[in-house]
Amino acid sequence: MNGDAIRETFVRFFERHGHRRISGASVVPVNDPTLLFVNSGMAPLKKYFTGEKVPPAPELCNVQGCIRTKDIDDVGDRHHITYFEMLGSWSIDGYFKERAVELAHELLTGDLGLDPRRLYVTVFGGDTGLGLPADEESALAWERAGIPRDRVVALPAEDNFWGPAGDSGPCGPCTEVFLDTGEEFGPAYVPGGAFDTKQRYIEIWNAGVFMEFDKGLDGVLRPLPFTSVDTGSGLERMELALNGLDSVHDTSLLAPLVRSVQDVLGEKGEVLHHHRVIADHMRAAVAIMSDGVRPGNEGRGYIPRRLIRKCVTMAMGRHQERFDFEPIVEAVVGSLGGTYPHFATEQTAVMAAIAQERDEFGHTVRRGLDQLDKVIAQRGRVSGSDAFNLFATYGLPVEITRDLAAARGVTLDREEFDSALRRHKVLSRGVPEGGERRRLRTGDVLPAAVRGATEFLGYDTLESDGVI
Ligand code: ATP
Ligand code: MG
Ligand code: MG
Ligand code: MG
Repeated sequence: MNGDAIRETFVRFFERHGHRRISGASVVPVNDPTLLFVNSGMAPLKKYFTGEKVPPAPELCNVQGCIRTKDIDDVGDRHHITYFEMLGSWSIDGYFKERAVELAHELLTGDLGLDPRRLYVTVFGGDTGLGLPADEESALAWERAGIPRDRVVALPAEDNFWGPAGDSGPCGPCTEVFLDTGEEFGPAYVPGGAFDTKQRYIEIWNAGVFMEFDKGLDGVLRPLPFTSVDTGSGLERMELALNGLDSVHDTSLLAPLVRSVQDVLGEKGEVLHHHRVIADHMRAAVAIMSDGVRPGNEGRGYIPRRLIRKCVTMAMGRHQERFDFEPIVEAVVGSLGGTYPHFATEQTAVMAAIAQERDEFGHTVRRGLDQLDKVIAQRGRVSGSDAFNLFATYGLPVEITRDLAAARGVTLDREEFDSALRRHKVLSRGVPEGGERRRLRTGDVLPAAVRGATEFLGYDTLESDGVI
């Protein structure tokens, strides 16, 4: 099954079982200033769970484009991407744990045809601090559905208690489904031992957040007026599972993009880390920009800027003076434009905005490279603070400086660079190394990057999971 087929199979399954299909929302949250980007199917529907809004039907399903800025630096691994499509289903004041588990098991092993022996599930193991017992009900429901006890793993609250996104709101225990991707990815889980969710066992579905509490601002959990179920599964991970792929980059959704990146860079053959990253970042930038966001220095605009600049520097690092992103965007629109028609209608405008960002930033990087050549000609070496100045003034990432210096037979002291960066961060935050706060004094000169002229230093402000 390819991505398109899985999307339809998921939604049709839930429709067949009484759920109403609703459309997904824009990745840019509407009337929600607390959220940078929609990062789950549930986010645009939040008000249904508190009773503030009445849902169109008590049981819903859909496909929602999600952006997870928190995962950007993980891209390139087997299963984290910046933009992904979340398949979701909900029961609002309707069925609860047992039925949710039954439906999840039936879809996975029936319509989707996964081998039940490769499935592991996690349940909430209880928390004395919260005063909550283990979720025995979900464990039993999985057992009844056909998952033996030794593949039901009880985990603590940090893994299996879904907390409210802000300080308060609906929350509850959850149960998740993992796929065993085989012994080549690590040792098998032994009941009672550690459960490796990073390599061998890949999370494919948060098959039920069981919302039963409302966390007050005082931190106290009180029962909600009604209970609800929220589920979410990554489409790309589901395709990985169904087709026995090594990574989400091998799916029908991403592989054509990766190939297009290879074509653009003239690097056929083995898929390398930067191929995956560029494919992912261009796809995410297109998704965000198709919803109207343009690259900029602040707020939401900083994310497409960061994504595009990363691609430009990666391409330049591969000796591509001008990053020919157009075929990659065409591949993105070719893959998703049928499902999300606004990708196609916005394509021309998005291409123009990406070209502008590329050209401006490419120009900056070019000046940085010229400066690097001067530094090498003058001093015969590149010190850590030279590299830092190139980064701060021209936005030249240290990895690129290192590669370019190496191409000129010169090595760069990375530790020296790191300590220059640390000194700078301390200065820009007004926190000296000793830890005590002080105000910036007039005369403290901040590198241009801090003032937003170039790239990369602003990352720290956006590392949370899309929550401002
Ligand atoms: P992980 O622990 O692997 O980071 P998660 O627990 O953060 O995943 P959830 O918040 O439970 O994920 O989201 C529900 C589902 O969305 C996951 O089970 C997974 O299938 C999918 N998903 C989450 N993050 C990503 C991502 N960065 N890329 C692709 N799919 C994702
Ligand atoms: Mg995660
Ligand atoms: Mg997880
Ligand atoms: Mg999860």
